[in-house]
Amino acid sequence: MANIIYVDNNATTKVDPAVLEKMMPFFTEYYGNPSSMHNFGGEVMHHIEEARQKIAQFLNCSPIEIIFTSCGTESDNTAIAAALEAYPERRHVITTRVEHSAIMNQTKFLTKKGYTISYLNVDKYGMIDIEELRELISEKTAIVSVMYANNETGVIYPIEKIGKLCREKGVVFHTDAVQVAGKLPIDLKKLPVDMLSLSGHKLHAPKGIGVLYVRKGTRFKPFLIGGEQEHGRRGGTENVATIIGLGEACRLAEKHMAYENTEIRRLRDKLEKGILDAVPNSLLNGHKESRLPNTVNISFEYVEGEAILLLLNEQGICASSGSACTSGSIEPSHVLRAMGVPFTAAHGSIRFSLSRYNTEKEIDKIIEVAPPIIERLRSISPFWRRENAWLKEQEERERLQKQQKAVH
Ligand code: PLP
Repeated sequence: MANIIYVDNNATTKVDPAVLEKMMPFFTEYYGNPSSMHNFGGEVMHHIEEARQKIAQFLNCSPIEIIFTSCGTESDNTAIAAALEAYPERRHVITTRVEHSAIMNQTKFLTKKGYTISYLNVDKYGMIDIEELRELISEKTAIVSVMYANNETGVIYPIEKIGKLCREKGVVFHTDAVQVAGKLPIDLKKLPVDMLSLSGHKLHAPKGIGVLYVRKGTRFKPFLIGGEQEHGRRGGTENVATIIGLGEACRLAEKHMAYENTEIRRLRDKLEKGILDAVPNSLLNGHKESRLPNTVNISFEYVEGEAILLLLNEQGICASSGSACTSGSIEPSHVLRAMGVPFTAAHGSIRFSLSRYNTEKEIDKIIEVAPPIIERLRSISPFWRRENAWLKEQEERERLQKQQKAVH
């Protein structure tokens, strides 16, 4: 599609052409089954192991700790299911109120199965309180799962501190790092994390590939039971081409990481400031500092997020209201509700998420077209007109009070 401005990179990213190039021979030339005894299959296995090596290098872990899955959701589901299987006597799970539905809906399912789930609260900036975790964690807890960064707001969680606490208490710690890979360095030699999820399509690899990192020594039971692939830890013939693609995407991500944290951060900050300055009654959702460099989530009071998205879409701008998976639902985002964002603001939230493919010109265009769109929608919003009339009355009252004080 020509002339679109794609700022929805937390939903999915463009496959890097260099990644696609690496993948192509694995559809046509190297199509052998990596588990086959013949050399034709063995050669494919060799390339899988090379990709595993690249990913291990990217995460600073051992290749044997990498399990290929089909997506971030499968990695998340596997981590929690594996811990519950490994510790059947422990029937308590701790997570947060702001996880992706990959965790949220699994924990709802587990509640029906009789497990106890504790959800950590977040403050108005979307941040958790580690002391709440300290109080909740017990010998009955099988696993703590806290996302590394939030997909809607970009808020980054104190993973190192959480991991240390879990180690002290002897509880498995999983983190969903789907939104972090490629944006922040992940060093698993330093991070006290037992399991970690990644998803290829969030870092310029294709859809249909994920990773679950499982630290050596962590008790583990497979979620997909089948063949002996992935050392018996995940059944199913490997999705070879996407594995090769993810290996290359990780190699490239390492190369582009500095750019994400300087240039993309600068463009994101420009977009954030440009919109907040130009639009009255607009609020930043999320933490000012502890936030991914590519993400900004803004609430526009008294307008519907969906209406804003449609008008942005008319201008060729692809953004998101809440998370991609909750768009289309009329419920405001569970993340913003957990942060206590008022109803009138939670409904009008838009997430812009950038990638290394965005340009300054695109950001300038969004800053130019978004404010008039909000103004137009507010001009037909009865809530805004009522609020505006009330604000004007307030201003007039204050002006008169000041005038009276000046006379006395
Ligand atoms: N976790 C987070 C934080 C996400 O943002 C997403 C996707 O948006 C997922 C998990 C699910 O990943 P996948 O789409 O690969 O299943």
